[in-house]
Amino acid sequence: MSKLRERVLRGYRESEGGFSYFNVLLTNKQARDPGFLENNSTQWDIGFIHPKRIPSYYCNKCGEDIDKPPKIEVVISQMAGDQLSTAVVYTCTECKEFINHVHIKSPKGINPKFIRFDETGDYKIPTTEDVETRVEMALKHATEAKSYRDDLELALRWGKKISHKIPMSRIKGIMRTYWSSHLRELEEGLPGLVEEIKKHSYGFNTVTSEPGETTAFEGTGMYEMFERLEETLLHTELPDDVGLNQDILRILVSYKTMFQRSVANYEEHKRQIDECIAAEENNVAEAENKIVRFLNKAKLTESHKNEAMEPLPWDYD
Ligand SMILES: [Zn+2]
Repeated sequence: MSKLRERVLRGYRESEGGFSYFNVLLTNKQARDPGFLENNSTQWDIGFIHPKRIPSYYCNKCGEDIDKPPKIEVVISQMAGDQLSTAVVYTCTECKEFINHVHIKSPKGINPKFIRFDETGDYKIPTTEDVETRVEMALKHATEAKSYRDDLELALRWGKKISHKIPMSRIKGIMRTYWSSHLRELEEGLPGLVEEIKKHSYGFNTVTSEPGETTAFEGTGMYEMFERLEETLLHTELPDDVGLNQDILRILVSYKTMFQRSVANYEEHKRQIDECIAAEENNVAEAENKIVRFLNKAKLTESHKNEAMEPLPWDYD
């Protein structure tokens, strides 16, 4: 061990207003590799380092060397296409300041005690408590009308790993809870939503100067607000409030008017295009007259004429 101690690697991480670093004892293999020290002397991307190999670190916030390893936590998340993302997070044990954060290729071989979170449940076997905590979180989010799906899916996946079954009645209960809090939120939010839509009434516009451009209806967030209004009107009881209901009616009329304006706009385009077509058709007829007049004068034989009755190529070499 004493030999290794001489080969200390100081990885720097510069951040706003300073830097933190830690001292790393190299493995025998790394110490024998002359290129390793050179390549890794200033960068941090050296993967997961066991705390036994970090005798000390410098914390920028504490402003001093701490003679023990930082807190090391591994977070494994599942990405699209079953890809894994494994992050190793080093934080100061004294002040919880973030020291460093690296991504590693695979969590294989890392002791599960360092794994704070494993979405897959493959590298850190979940406990019944883990599963139950997720179910409770899903229920909590559902009660607040927030998305509960991620937590519920995690609970189901982890539960399956350890054969801890979540009864269908509980799942359905969470879904029902979400739906009723969602409806309550819609109902309570209706006056505010109507005010917000009124404030953005210029967003009732689908006419753009260029085809394919984002319309004001999409760009101002009106699309989402109107969708929410529609959902509220469809699923909740309307309050007995004449002023509010009149405002809703004005909004619905604005929505219809927006498409009427769009139709009028396209009709105007169509009229302009029709005019262009008519003008060009006129030009075709006049060109035909010019050909006839020329042929009357030019005395070409029928076959010479036929040979030349085609346009010149678009471009010459
Ligand atoms: Zn600190």
